[in-house]
Amino acid sequence: MARETFPARLLKKVCLSESAQCYHFEFELTDRESFPYTAGQFLSAVAVDGNGKTQTRAYSIASAPSANRFDLCVNRVEGGFFSNYLADLPEGAIIQIHGPHGHFVLHQPPVDAIFVATGTGIAPMRAFTQQLFPETGEDLSAGRPIWCVYGTRHESELYYRDYFERIAAQHPNFHYISTLSRAPQAWTGNRGYVQQYVGKIVEAREARLGKMQPVPEGTDPKTLAFDIYTYICGLNNMVSEVRDLLTEHGWHKKQVVFERYD
Ligand SMILES: Cc1cc2nc3c(=O)[nH]c(=O)nc-3n(C[C@H](O)[C@H](O)[C@H](O)COP(=O)(O)OP(=O)(O)OC[C@H]3O[C@@H](n4cnc5c(N)ncnc54)[C@H](O)[C@@H]3O)c2cc1C
Repeated sequence: MARETFPARLLKKVCLSESAQCYHFEFELTDRESFPYTAGQFLSAVAVDGNGKTQTRAYSIASAPSANRFDLCVNRVEGGFFSNYLADLPEGAIIQIHGPHGHFVLHQPPVDAIFVATGTGIAPMRAFTQQLFPETGEDLSAGRPIWCVYGTRHESELYYRDYFERIAAQHPNFHYISTLSRAPQAWTGNRGYVQQYVGKIVEAREARLGKMQPVPEGTDPKTLAFDIYTYICGLNNMVSEVRDLLTEHGWHKKQVVFERYD
């Protein structure tokens, strides 16, 4: 049975990268005053394609909850229907959505966290960051260290870079680490894959606090609580590699929360 959808109007569209054809979208629900969701969740967008077939795609919400508004961050996928439909959408147009959906949300109360993203996987990290470090209002990070490790191929694909750098400048417990896998010679920042930088954070922590202690057998999973979690979002290969790395360091699988886009 088809789910009930509701309309959202595109208020604003900004091209974040011409070369990667990535766009930031700001929507407002037209038939309700609020859109309750938890930062990190995704919604489903529904549209009819050129063959009259109804298509549904998931998109992470790229903003923390704010009345009846939400942001998305979407890049064109060559030959794909939905990403191109959104990328070509004019301001003022209305799309149909349902949701929110998903369990990619922050553990509460806040503890240490590593956010790991590539490409548009930064969308839910922006929502997390807005939730923890609202630009107006109380800091909800409880002073816990938060690392956001973000990897892209080129500098022009570091979406929301100004935002993350500003939050890092304002909050000494928020660390923004970007890295390029195809950096030109002139690039003076980090190079390589996100895995390397996650490894460095984990090793520095082990040097300070010791290795992660194994959870005693027979522990009820519902009672498990850790003092650090990693949240990973992006394409499957990267997600698997970061999960493997953390497993090698003795992390429990419940400490690693992930969202895969493919
Ligand atoms: C939970 C969830 C959240 C997501 N959030 C976002 C988001 O915030 N922003 C965003 O841009 N995308 C996001 N995606 C991916 C999105 O749902 C679509 O898959 C993507 O927009 C492509 O849809 P399409 O209709 O254009 O391509 P399709 O017609 O579905 O696919 C065309 C071709 O591209 C390949 N493909 C599909 N998705 C990708 C991809 N992401 N990268 C490279 N190749 C791909 C397919 O295998 C296929 O060969 C999310 C996916 C999931 C499951």
